[in-house]
Amino acid sequence: MNAERLRDNLEAVRCRIAEAARRSGRDPASVTLVAVTKRNPPEQVRPLVELGALDLGENYPQELWKKVEALADLPARWHLIGHLQGNKARKTLSMVRMIHAVDSLKLLQALDAMAAEAVEPPAVCLQVNTSSEAAKHGWSPSSILEDADAIAGCRWVPIVGLMTMAALGTTAETARPSFVLLRRLRDDLRARTGLPLEHLSMGMSNDFETAVEEGATLVRIGSALFEGVAP
Ligand SMILES: *Cc1c(COP(=O)(O)O)cnc(C)c1O
Repeated sequence: MNAERLRDNLEAVRCRIAEAARRSGRDPASVTLVAVTKRNPPEQVRPLVELGALDLGENYPQELWKKVEALADLPARWHLIGHLQGNKARKTLSMVRMIHAVDSLKLLQALDAMAAEAVEPPAVCLQVNTSSEAAKHGWSPSSILEDADAIAGCRWVPIVGLMTMAALGTTAETARPSFVLLRRLRDDLRARTGLPLEHLSMGMSNDFETAVEEGATLVRIGSALFEGVAP
């Protein structure tokens, strides 16, 4: 494993986040890097945490469970960023700081019921399909506003923001409308629910600088960190 490359990649990503934040008049500290570790074995993730990247994102609950166990000695904060099936929710809930991709009212209400009994339930973001791709999970832009009352009725699970993915194959610039739409939906949903919704989870390796310019507070970055690191 090329540990030097990993360190350089991390440094470069952090600089690019900070520059994008400053360009748009934001405090770089208002953006959290979630290092996406999917498909990278624990021995490649460990040095990243030791370099100070403490927020780690996984897509698949089972892969998450394994890595949480393998890296239990580290002060990592885990994020589930992929689809969560109801039958994997209870176990996952106790292991993560945040669930980014709550993609239906049914799942949200199930998590709310579980959160009522949890000591410290994780925060959740609601996924919106801003690019209207058939293959993507999440609320449509109009349906999330229609569900505002039901969302506001979830009293136990902390709903802290919205999440989106730009369409497959978009570039940094063509992704921008998705991010602008997510921010506007957040503002509308905030007005309708009274929830603070302080987080926007948006931006990946291809488009994170645009996402930061448009208000992302959580960027989910994998390939830009692990490029050239595997043996
Ligand atoms: C894989 C993945 C990422 C990271 O993508 P990269 O292009 O590797 O940075 C971010 N978010 C989600 C939901 C993902 O599945």
